[in-house]
Amino acid sequence: MAVKHTPTNEVHSGTKGGKTGCGFDTKDHPEHWVNSHERITCDKNGCKNE
Ligand SMILES: [Zn+2]
Repeated sequence: MAVKHTPTNEVHSGTKGGKTGCGFDTKDHPEHWVNSHERITCDKNGCKNE
């Protein structure tokens, strides 16, 4: 499962309402995050490795 950060178009591992693989909390700015099936583009630890 992936979650997209719409201001940057970066796709992270995780789901909306939880934390991304790299540690962002999607509840901080819920309007910035949407569930996605796109390929993960984040290259930080925890996202890239999944
Ligand atoms: Zn990430």
